[in-house]
Amino acid sequence: MTDLLQIGGITPRMEAALADRFDIHVLFDLEDRQAWLAENGDRIEAILTNGHHGVPEDVALATPNLKVVSSYGVGYDAIDAPAFAARGIKIAHTPDVLNDEVADTFVALWLAVSRGIVVADRFARSGAWEDGAFPLTRSVQKRRVGILGLGRIGEEIANRIKCFRGDVHYHSRSRKDVDYTYHDSPAALAEAVEVLVAITPGGPETEHLVNAEVLKALGPEGILINVSRGSVVDEAALIAALQAGEIAGAGLDVFAEEPKIPQALKEMENVVLLPHVGSATHETRAAMGDLTVRNLLSWLKDGSVETPVPECRHL
Ligand code: NDP
Repeated sequence: MTDLLQIGGITPRMEAALADRFDIHVLFDLEDRQAWLAENGDRIEAILTNGHHGVPEDVALATPNLKVVSSYGVGYDAIDAPAFAARGIKIAHTPDVLNDEVADTFVALWLAVSRGIVVADRFARSGAWEDGAFPLTRSVQKRRVGILGLGRIGEEIANRIKCFRGDVHYHSRSRKDVDYTYHDSPAALAEAVEVLVAITPGGPETEHLVNAEVLKALGPEGILINVSRGSVVDEAALIAALQAGEIAGAGLDVFAEEPKIPQALKEMENVVLLPHVGSATHETRAAMGDLTVRNLLSWLKDGSVETPVPECRHL
């Protein structure tokens, strides 16, 4: 049996698929984590983690014989991929299987903000309707929508925007061979559109890509949707822009200090908040779990993983 360190929760289905091949040690169940790592760290060859927990530094340092990390999620900004690649450790993640779900979450937030769905629900429940009609809202039809990060999920978001007869604009590090309109900076993209959706990876490279300048460029009728990582948006600048009416509203699935959400955001009627549920359906989590498991079993069989992160593809 190969020793596997499990960081964060896994589903019973994942556990069942791994239990007869791996000796699973659950990090958060350990009474004395440091003592356990000091005594057993060198036995660990595999880690199963997720995008939220990544691999903490004490674990990375205490596992000299680590060979593979399989992460239950596509975003791996919580894992120091270059450092692991330099150690020859393969990192696998779960791309593609969640594209539709996250793109649907974008649609849900966009509709919720533009059409006032959450506020209207409260209005209907409270009986306020008996005193008068709900105010008119803004249509999502035929909008100019900017995608910040036209990758796997961004492409699916573009497909959905077309269903609403929208005009797709984007900014990525590189220009793509697509019919959509490219802009060479986040600010130029924001200036050109009415709705801006952030769907880049997190991490230092994209930190505060959406800043005060970008929000100002989006303008007083503009809506920001963030389904990427909390770090991609300067949250203080976002709160200031919403309070000053520099943008019209926001739909947020992710936050800088999640699960903590700033009180100012909670108090705003023109903001819709979700608890990081972009991929959180039974169906998609099952597909992600299956891929996470397949990566570990494939590594066990012949040392390869099905879906390595780009930094590890040469290994
Ligand atoms: P991809 O790698 O396919 O796409 C990422 C896109 O971001 C690419 O277009 C890339 O540009 C662009 N990008 C990267 N860095 C920059 C930068 N510095 N400036 C501008 N653009 C940049 O990733 P996915 O579409 O699969 O996933 C994207 C992210 O979505 C994940 O990393 C994760 O953080 C988030 N996510 C959130 C979920 C949620 O629950 N809310 C669920 C799943 C994912 P280029 O193509 O030019 O390299």
